[in-house]
Amino acid sequence: MLGQMMNKPLLISSLIEHAERYHSGGEIYSVNTGGGVEETTWGAVAANARRLASALTKLGLEPQARCGTIAWNNRRHLEIYFGTSGGGFVCHTINPRLFPEQLVYILNHAEDKVLFIDRTFVPLVAAVRDKLEHLEHIILMEGADAEAAKTLPGLIFYDDFIAGGDAGFDWPDMDEYTASSLCYTSGTTGNPKGVLYSHRSTVLHSFGINLTDSVGISASEVVLPVVPMFHVNAWGAPYACAMTGARLVMPGPGLDGPSLVGLIDTYKVTLAMGVPTIWLGLLGEAKKAGSKLESLKRTVVGGSACPPSMITAFREEYGVDTIHAWGMTEMSPVGSVNQPLAKHAVLPEAEQHRLRENQGRPVFGVELEILDDDGNPLPHDGKAQGDLVTRGHWILDSYFRKTREETLRDGWFDTGDVATMDPDGYITIKDRSKDIIKSGGEWISSVELENIAIAHPKLADAAVIGARHEKWDERPVLVAVKAEGEDPTEAEVLAIYEGKIAKWQLPDRVVFTDALPRNATGKVLKRNLRDEFGEILIG
Ligand code: ADP
Repeated sequence: MLGQMMNKPLLISSLIEHAERYHSGGEIYSVNTGGGVEETTWGAVAANARRLASALTKLGLEPQARCGTIAWNNRRHLEIYFGTSGGGFVCHTINPRLFPEQLVYILNHAEDKVLFIDRTFVPLVAAVRDKLEHLEHIILMEGADAEAAKTLPGLIFYDDFIAGGDAGFDWPDMDEYTASSLCYTSGTTGNPKGVLYSHRSTVLHSFGINLTDSVGISASEVVLPVVPMFHVNAWGAPYACAMTGARLVMPGPGLDGPSLVGLIDTYKVTLAMGVPTIWLGLLGEAKKAGSKLESLKRTVVGGSACPPSMITAFREEYGVDTIHAWGMTEMSPVGSVNQPLAKHAVLPEAEQHRLRENQGRPVFGVELEILDDDGNPLPHDGKAQGDLVTRGHWILDSYFRKTREETLRDGWFDTGDVATMDPDGYITIKDRSKDIIKSGGEWISSVELENIAIAHPKLADAAVIGARHEKWDERPVLVAVKAEGEDPTEAEVLAIYEGKIAKWQLPDRVVFTDALPRNATGKVLKRNLRDEFGEILIG
C-alpha cells in the first residue's frame, strides 16, 4: 500500500518561489564588483531569476545545458543560481583562482554553453576564449560596457539579457533527480573532478543545514556568506537563506579584514560563514579598528581545521560562538557540525571548550564511519583512527562522467580524511590521509601540531609536514611564517609544545618561510612544502 500524500518534487525553483511568496520584502545587500553597495529584495531576485530562466530558454539551450559562472558573491550571482537551475539548466560555478589550463579543462569537460562573468574576470576569460570548445555565449554580469565588449567580441550584457525575459515565466516541472548544479574539486593532484548535484540533493541539504543542531539559519538573521559561491555553492547558504528568508549580505570581491568588519558593523550581520584564513584576517582587523563586532553572534568555520585559539578569541573577546563544521565538495558540502548535547551543559567550562574544538557530529542525512585498511569498522571510542567514509542523501554517487565503481568503496565514499569518532558520533579530523606523518609505527597528526603552533603569538601562520627520515621514515617539520615585526628562534617556537604533546611528537625542525603556498580554495599545498622541505632531515 502506498502512502496517500502529494508527490511534489524537491526542486530548487520551489526554494525561490517560497522566498518570493512569503518574504519577498526581505533585504539583500550586495557589494558591486565596481564598488558601492546595492540593496535589493528576495522578491526582486526571484523576479529576475524568472526573467533569466525565460531568456535562457529563448536562447534555445537544451535541457541541463551547463551555464558556467566566474563571479563573486553578489545579487546577480544569486539570481543566476536560481534562474539557471530553476529553468532546468545546470549552474556550473567555477573557481577563478584556478590555473588557466585547469579553467580550460573544466569548461571543456563540462561542455559549458553559456558563461556568466563578473567584470574582474574579463581578462582571464579573454586569454582562454579560443580554447573553450563548446562555449556559445558570454554574459557580463553588468549593464552595457563598451570597454569589455572590445575585449570580448559578441559579449552579452546581463541587465539587457534579462530585460528580454519574462518575469511571469513559469518554473518547469522536473524529476527531482534532475541535475541542477556542478562544482569541480580543486584537484591538487590530477585533473579536477566534477560533482553534479541534483535538485533533490540540494533541497535536502538545505533542510539539513537548517536544522537547529546544524547551522540552523533563521528568518531573524543577517547572514554574510564569505565563503565564495564558487566554493561548493557557498556551503549551501543561498538555498538555505531562500528557504528561511534570512537577510543576506553579499560581500562581492572584498574579502579582506577591513571590508568584512565594515560590512558586519554596517549591516548588523549576525551569522558569518567562511574558512579559517579569512577569520584570521578579520580578527586582526577588528582588533586594529577597535570594532567589537557587536552584532555578530555566530561564525561557521570549516574547509580546514579551525584552530582552537580562534574559537577562544571569538568567544572571549567578541562573545561570538564558533560553529566548527566539516565537509567537502563531494558532500554538498556539509557532513558534520559541532553543536553541544544537553549532558554537556553541566561540564566544567574547560571541558566544554575542549568539546567545541572537534568537527562535530553527522547531520541527519549523512552517515559516517571509520574503517581500517581492510575496510572493517573501527570502534567509536574517540581513540581509534581510520579512513573516514560516508554515504547519504547529498553525498555523491559518481563523479561527472565517471562510474560508481571508479568513485565509491563498497558503497561508501572515501573522504580521504583520517578521523576518530566518539560514542556520541563526534569526529576529530586528524589529517588528510596523504598528509598524516608516519613516524616509525606511530601516526602523528599534522593538524594537531598546526593547531598548537598557530596560537604562538610570534607566528602568523604554520603548517606541519612529514619530512623523510633515515631511522623513522618520516618526522614532523614545522614550516612557520613569523608574525609582523617578530623574530622568534626555533627553540622559542618549539617551547609552545611543552606539556601539550608527547615528546616523540615534537617537530624535529622549524623552518621559516615568507608565506605558505595555498590552492585555489585557500588550503595549504602540503605537496609543495614537501617538495621544498621534505628532505631537510636527511644527511
Ligand atoms: P571544501 O571545498 O568544502 O573545502 P574540498 O572538497 O575542497 O571541500 O575539501 C574537503 C576537505 O577539506 C576535507 O576532506 C578535509 O580534509 C578538509 N576539511 C574541510 N573542513 C574541515 C574541518 N573543519 N577540519 C579539518 N579539515 C577540514
